[in-house]
Amino acid sequence: MEIIPPAIDPLSPKNLPLPEATARQVLNWIGVHPDRPLVTQVARFDPWKDPLGVISAYRLAREEVAGLQLALVGSMALDDPEGWEVYRAILTESEADPLIHVFTNLTGVGNIEVNAFQRLSRLVVQKSIREGFGLVVSEALWKGTPVVAGRAGGIPLQMADGVGGILVDGVDDCAKAMLRLLRQPAEAVEMATQGQEWVRRHFLLPRMLLNELSLIHDLLSERPSRHPSFIADNRRDPVCGMIVLETSAKLRETFGEEQRVLL
Ligand code: UDP
Repeated sequence: MEIIPPAIDPLSPKNLPLPEATARQVLNWIGVHPDRPLVTQVARFDPWKDPLGVISAYRLAREEVAGLQLALVGSMALDDPEGWEVYRAILTESEADPLIHVFTNLTGVGNIEVNAFQRLSRLVVQKSIREGFGLVVSEALWKGTPVVAGRAGGIPLQMADGVGGILVDGVDDCAKAMLRLLRQPAEAVEMATQGQEWVRRHFLLPRMLLNELSLIHDLLSERPSRHPSFIADNRRDPVCGMIVLETSAKLRETFGEEQRVLL
């Protein structure tokens, strides 16, 4: 099996360069104070994205960072009753807290707003407990914003611990990682810069296009697939030829032994 991981489109409204002044205006207009520190999670309102865990971790961090704001930005599907339940639980938990902002696509928060949030947040959280790929991680890293993310699904493939941000396993861990990045801005910038470069090399659309074209070419010519890859041959499994990434154990668990990840 060949696995071609997803990628983000750097020219789409969600990811295109947005001048800081414009991003600040966008956030200001929807009621978020651009001069106060902000952390954001952009995710469907879904139990596996653990928004209530994000609120708990944020509250722990806020004890030490006065005025810290949290934005939870989630898309709502009209046919997803579970999403509405999670949304109601988030509102109940946050309604008396003026520093927690909850937004949805139904209240007008679309791609440009997500772009502004991912750009201006001091850090982006993706506290997933289970995850498919977690595209939001690459989206934030591409904008030079460090990420605190659950060690789940495709997240470690986009972000090794310490490269782009910090991988976490629970609420306390998440709060500690947030505090570390908030208190040590130089380290946060360094991690974010490395993460941005990793995304530039591996998670933008041209890499995916190249993988797909190579695969089609190899299928048509009935040759085993080549890997237009940054991965040195000594990182391939000598038996099955699978690329041995730090994250491959998790992927192997998900996809079985016969997978190869094309990056
Ligand atoms: N997204 C969005 N608005 C929201 C929530 C999510 O535009 O309010 C986008 C997000 O930017 C990303 C996608 O939806 O591009 C979610 O993809 P991901 O792989 O992170 O999670 P999934 O929802 O597929 O589990």
